[in-house]
Amino acid sequence: MEPGLKLGIVYIGKAGGKHKYSLVDEKDIPIVKKFRFEARVDVDRDGNGANIYAYAYDMNKERTRGCYFHEYIWERHCGGVAPGFKVIHKNGVTVDNRLYNLTIVPNNCKKYKRQRTEKMDCYGEPSEDQSIYWTAVSRIPPPEPHEEELSCTSYSKFYDANGNLVREEDDSSSFYECHFAPCSKIEHELQEFSICGRCQQVRYCGTLCQQRDWPNHKKCCKEKAKQRLQSIPPER
Ligand SMILES: [Zn+2]
Ligand SMILES: [Zn+2]
Repeated sequence: MEPGLKLGIVYIGKAGGKHKYSLVDEKDIPIVKKFRFEARVDVDRDGNGANIYAYAYDMNKERTRGCYFHEYIWERHCGGVAPGFKVIHKNGVTVDNRLYNLTIVPNNCKKYKRQRTEKMDCYGEPSEDQSIYWTAVSRIPPPEPHEEELSCTSYSKFYDANGNLVREEDDSSSFYECHFAPCSKIEHELQEFSICGRCQQVRYCGTLCQQRDWPNHKKCCKEKAKQRLQSIPPER
C-alpha cells in the first residue's frame, strides 16, 4: 500500500457465509457514520451467481428504502447517473467503494462483468487493482469463535434487479463467498465451493485460499468441529 494512504474499512454485516467489509476513501470516512449498513446479496437471475454489495440506510431519515453505497458515493462526488447507465466496480470487488474504483457504464455494458472461471483453484493472488482491498481486509483480526457463532444464525436477503425482496434464507441455501477474508470469489452455483471438512461450516474457492485462511480459521474451526461431534448421537 502507498505510504500515507488512509482508507476507511466499514463492517457491513455477514453475507455469503462470512463477515464483509467495505472500503472507502479517507474523505468519505465522516459520512459513513450517517448510515446503517447491510451486506446485500444480489442474485443474478441469469445464473451468474451473486454479488455482495454495501447497502446503506440513512439514519437521519426514517423508513427510507436505502441505497447502494457505491451509487451514493458516486453521486456525492460526480453527480447523478443518467438513465440507462449504472455505477460499477472496476476491479470486480463489489464492496471496494473507493471513488477510484468506481465508474459509470451503459446498463448493457459487459466489460466489467465477472468472468466465470472454470478452474477456481488457479486464483490465490489478487490482481494488481485488487491489492489495496486485499491488503486492507487482510489486516482485520479474525472473529472470535463466539462472534462467528452468533452470525451463523443470520439470514440473507435476496433481491432482484429492481430491488424487490425475492426471498430470505438461512446461510445453508445461499451462495457462499470464499471464506478467506480478502478473496471475493463467490459461487456461481449453490455448493460449488468445497466445504471445510472439519467444521462443515465454511467454503473456499480453492485449496490455496483454504491454506491461507487456516491461521485465522483454526480457532473457530476446532470449536465448531467439537460442537458438531457432540451434537451427533452415538451410533448403535
Ligand atoms: Zn478464495
Ligand atoms: Zn473449518
